[in-house]
Amino acid sequence: MQIDPLSDSRIAEHGFRLERRRLVQLLWVILASLSLVLALSVADGAWTSAACEGAAAAVMLLALWLASVGRVPLAAHLMLLTLTVLTSAMIFRSQGLRDEAVCAIPALMVFSAMFGSRKVFLAVLVTLFAMLATIAAANIRGWHANPVGPVTWGSLANLLVVLSATAFFVWLMASDLRLALSRLEVENGRIRESFTRIDLLAHHDALTGLPNRLLARDRFAQALALAQRQHTPVALLFLDLDNFKDVNDSLGHAAGDLLLREVARRLQRAVRACDTVSRHGGDEFLVIMGDLGEQTAIAATAVKIMEQLAVPFQVLGMELSATCSLGISVYPQDGAEFDTLLKHADMAMYHAKDAGRNTFSFYDVEINTSVIDHLHLISGIRAALARQQFKLHYQPQFDLRSGLVVGAEALIRWRHPELGMIPPAKFIAVAERSGLINEIGTWVLNEACRQAKAWQNAGLLDLVVAVNLSPVQFRRGDIERDILQALAQAELAPTSIELELTESLLIAEAGHLGPLLSRLRQRGIRLSIDDFGTGYSNLGYLRRFEVERLKIDQSFVRRMTVDGHDEGIVRAIIQMAHSLKLEAVAEGVEDAATLARLIELGCEFGQGYHWSPAVPPDEFFEFVQARQGLDRAGHRRSA
Ligand code: C2E
Ligand code: MG
Ligand code: MG
Repeated sequence: MQIDPLSDSRIAEHGFRLERRRLVQLLWVILASLSLVLALSVADGAWTSAACEGAAAAVMLLALWLASVGRVPLAAHLMLLTLTVLTSAMIFRSQGLRDEAVCAIPALMVFSAMFGSRKVFLAVLVTLFAMLATIAAANIRGWHANPVGPVTWGSLANLLVVLSATAFFVWLMASDLRLALSRLEVENGRIRESFTRIDLLAHHDALTGLPNRLLARDRFAQALALAQRQHTPVALLFLDLDNFKDVNDSLGHAAGDLLLREVARRLQRAVRACDTVSRHGGDEFLVIMGDLGEQTAIAATAVKIMEQLAVPFQVLGMELSATCSLGISVYPQDGAEFDTLLKHADMAMYHAKDAGRNTFSFYDVEINTSVIDHLHLISGIRAALARQQFKLHYQPQFDLRSGLVVGAEALIRWRHPELGMIPPAKFIAVAERSGLINEIGTWVLNEACRQAKAWQNAGLLDLVVAVNLSPVQFRRGDIERDILQALAQAELAPTSIELELTESLLIAEAGHLGPLLSRLRQRGIRLSIDDFGTGYSNLGYLRRFEVERLKIDQSFVRRMTVDGHDEGIVRAIIQMAHSLKLEAVAEGVEDAATLARLIELGCEFGQGYHWSPAVPPDEFFEFVQARQGLDRAGHRRSA
């Protein structure tokens, strides 16, 4: 918006012109009125009045000339003086207080208020009042008499002339006032707009339109107040473009400006509507994120920003890249004040630059390592899926009464090319949080079914392969299709697989879970509850779902021969399983003593290092072949 600087001198000039115009108009009207009155006086043969009116008209002509040459105050004073004298004389000479010239007094007051100063106004007022008082006193005391004559057409004409002149000017004044008021309204609007504009300029960056440091500080204060109430973190992400100087130096400032504008747009796209993106000058930007549930959301936003900026920019027909380095500080651990957090985010940003640019770094070293590890793990899992780095190992499961291998639990293994073997405990949780478990789970199902079929073809006819399923896989809704597809693809009977479910899945029990599990059961697929005993005390869910087996968690089994308490738990679980017509599977059987005790307690199945850890499929096959023909004590059976 263009602000119109209406200076004081312009306002004064405008006022002067208006005053002159109004004075000239007034003088013409007075001249016309005087001419009429003069004509009436001449017609009446009132020669003294006519002479006075003629003289007044001449003075008005002089005043007109003075006004036209710009001597407005002098012209106005001359006019007021003449009119005051003329009116006083007419009143005195004619009918006194009852003369129609008295009606000219309000008009005179209006004129003196319009054109004179306060002093002039008061002088005219006092003169006229004094004149009226003198006439009244003279008449009362009998020094002078103003007899009232009969009403004539001439007196009506005089009265109408005086009133018309007054009315005309009162109307002019009122319209001037209205005009002034509406102008004032417009001016006010402009001033309000200017204030808004000034406020915008004071709080926003002119190039990108983003909030500037001042407003960022304010937004931070708001985010902080909310965070303190809700006990949540606030993050400051300080961002510096990696190669902006090169763009500016080689392509000029116009290209640099365009790039900055586009960066600003992309940054706004990468964050939530409630976050603030601000520009801190040059190629530095700041993102303020409040209302955060988890700190992983901060890293996710940092990644999103970097992904947004990684896409090449089209500037002046050229393709430019503008990667950035990001430093992150988090309230409360890195500080509670804007300046402290900003300084720490800035330091972290330099750390990111040192680490090779195009990356982000947390000020807090611990978060930094855990977040970076987390992200590496996620990208590592993706790569592992693509490069088929995952393998399934199988741990044999035994029928404790016959001593025969009756099943195999498929357990995933990941040998990372650089980091070596990564245990499932480390990456399954990450895969679950990032949703990658769905892809992993589908692969596990297919691979386990394929292997089970291969073993059946090789002669292990009754072997049941157990597959671990994550609760996350059930949330997606197509787990049933995945299972059936894996079975169909491998041409495997549903009775040859067992699904290991977690207690947490059954406790959370979404409405569709019961019918889904019973459909799977009806097809002949076995269901067991893994790590039983570690989850929840409310066992009501056991009645609702058609599971077949409880897998007693290894933490109780491993120590049951040395800890009476653990043995008590194992015994209780076995008894409970039996009373619910379920079978018990002991995990973590590490020695013969444990095995013997489990048999005494009536546990049906077991797995553990006592027999074998999880091994690759061919080793598993060899293991089973070697064991065929051995009895439960491990002696070769006689033919
Ligand atoms: P889990 O299903 O309870 O598997 C049993 C874990 O106990 C396995 O650990 C196994 O190697 C270990 N184990 C077996 N016998 C013994 C023993 O005698 N002593 C001791 N100390 N440990 C024994 P692993 O392979 O590291 O797997 C850990 C967990 O990762 C599994 O617990 C399971 O919850 C999860 N997991 C493994 N593979 C998969 C998979 O394909 N999908 C899903 N969703 N989860 C999996
Ligand atoms: Mg398991
Ligand atoms: Mg288990």
